[in-house]
Amino acid sequence: MNAPESLRKDSLYLAETHEVFNVACDLVDYNLYLQDAALQEAVRREGAGWAHDDLAAFGAMLGAADYLELGVLANRHPPELDTHDRFGNRADLVRFHPAYHTLMKTSIEHGLHASPWSDPGSGAHVARAARVYLHSQVEAGHQCPVTMTFAAVPSLRTTPRLASLWEPKITARVYDPRNVPDADKRGLTIGMAMTEKQGGSDVRANTTRAFPVGAAQGPGEAYELVGHKYFVSAPMCDAFLALAQAPDGLSCFLMPRWSPDGSRNALQVLRLKRKMGNVSNASSETELRGALAWMVGEEGRGVRTIIEMVAMTRFDCMVGSASGQRAAVAQALHHCSLRSAFGKVLNEQPLMRNVLADLALESEGSVALTMRIARALDHRDDEHEDLLVRLCTAVGKYWICKRTPGHAYESMECIGGSGVMEDSPFPRLFRESPVNAIWEGSGNVQCLDVLRAMQKTPAVVGAFFTELAKARGANAALDRYVAALQKEFGDLADLEYRARDVVDRMALALQAALLVQHAPAAVADAFCASRLAASGHHNYGALPRGVDCAAIVARATPRA
Ligand SMILES: Cc1cc2nc3c(=O)[nH]c(=O)nc-3n(C[C@H](O)[C@H](O)[C@H](O)COP(=O)(O)OP(=O)(O)OC[C@H]3O[C@@H](n4cnc5c(N)ncnc54)[C@H](O)[C@@H]3O)c2cc1C
Repeated sequence: MNAPESLRKDSLYLAETHEVFNVACDLVDYNLYLQDAALQEAVRREGAGWAHDDLAAFGAMLGAADYLELGVLANRHPPELDTHDRFGNRADLVRFHPAYHTLMKTSIEHGLHASPWSDPGSGAHVARAARVYLHSQVEAGHQCPVTMTFAAVPSLRTTPRLASLWEPKITARVYDPRNVPDADKRGLTIGMAMTEKQGGSDVRANTTRAFPVGAAQGPGEAYELVGHKYFVSAPMCDAFLALAQAPDGLSCFLMPRWSPDGSRNALQVLRLKRKMGNVSNASSETELRGALAWMVGEEGRGVRTIIEMVAMTRFDCMVGSASGQRAAVAQALHHCSLRSAFGKVLNEQPLMRNVLADLALESEGSVALTMRIARALDHRDDEHEDLLVRLCTAVGKYWICKRTPGHAYESMECIGGSGVMEDSPFPRLFRESPVNAIWEGSGNVQCLDVLRAMQKTPAVVGAFFTELAKARGANAALDRYVAALQKEFGDLADLEYRARDVVDRMALALQAALLVQHAPAAVADAFCASRLAASGHHNYGALPRGVDCAAIVARATPRA
């Protein structure tokens, strides 16, 4: 006998209303290194093939679901500042979620903060850059203090007295987040304090003053700093390289968080910035109320001294943004390999394939350029390599960082509506995407730096075209493009006004030259046909006819 109508409806309401199908799954439990052919090839090519096994193990660890979750947690629970303790004493203490500390510990124990200094040698920068590239895909924010610690070493070395005291603990593979004097720690991290309210790019406008403590002045001597610093990221670092006006002009200083007598240094954290991205990383506003600091480099040569650090942080911006592009396109490729629409898996729909291939090309161009500069860093004793570092760090920082927001957005669109949701990886990738372009010298500042390098060291131009010439004859479009670019350097009128256009083209020429020499033909030909064509490359997904999109997509797609 049939149940009455009302009863049948009730049981239907209790059952699932629908089956969940045609959806993707989390991209987890995969090897970030072994699933990245472009990175592996670049590592081998640029001189760090010896690191393969280590990178493969690192890539497996990072790709585990539990490890990837750390990146989510470190951003879901932002750092908090206690300016005072509950009794009213100054505390200047930033508290982080344990996930942040785990990420920091991994970075430091794997040498992301120092390996080229502690273990120099052929491929040292390349291997480190690959590790940073991989780990930043898990979480980008904590990389800020890791980068600053790494970058501080060349500046510190300008003053051997300070370097001999500090470098061993800076380069030690020990993460010690305790809020105690540096003397009580075995491992130290370093931040940077340049930017003030009235000027970030133009640090010569700094008003923070430095007063000698004793009769002695100059490198290694003690000063007291008075002023403010409007952006000080990672304020729990053990010391900061800071700029201040000494009697003989703007100078660089090493300012510890604790004084050698075990008291708190007069460096107060006023508040943490409320940032749209880079959330796991604390960035603060600080007051220096007679903070003890030692001069680094010559008095009055502060910019010259700290630029050694800035050059390295700019390089890491390239690595970080290239990593952001890989993280985004990996998600897009993964999703589109599992989701169907209109009767076909998305990555088989011709137009989506065009978009995915185009995003993969962008990412591949970025990693090729980044790893080429890493190799140049490994060989600075070679004049050509040194000139490339000087010019092309600015070119690459400008171009790769600036291309990343559009790339992140387009990758998000591949996911559809769920890509916009906070429980997808994309809001974090997207909010992170403009940061590298803006800090450590914004876009225009990088372009002006390219011009400055060309004016101060004209040989950089020759080195740049020598590098491009390695690809001559391999692709007719590239040959034409380089010839046209060369003409720009014959006409120096309005070069400042035209700098973005020229630097854009320099970056594309360099990426294309690298891909033409080293990437599979499908990648290199498509890159040149789309990026170097006279018609321009306005949106992703506009690759011309004849491109082997399926091959490009297959090469780039990570498999769990
Ligand atoms: C998340 C975050 C963390 C940061 N952490 C730190 C930190 O730890 N330590 C630190 O010292 N700083 C830090 N900064 C500051 C950062 O380095 C500066 O914001 C940056 O250098 C730009 O300076 P500004 O904000 O004063 O902008 P401005 O210098 O005012 O520049 C504004 C715009 O003008 C352009 N511009 C400047 N000069 C020229 C010119 N001559 N011609 C054409 N265009 C020009 C710039 O490219 C930029 O687009 C951080 C910033 C961010 C966003």
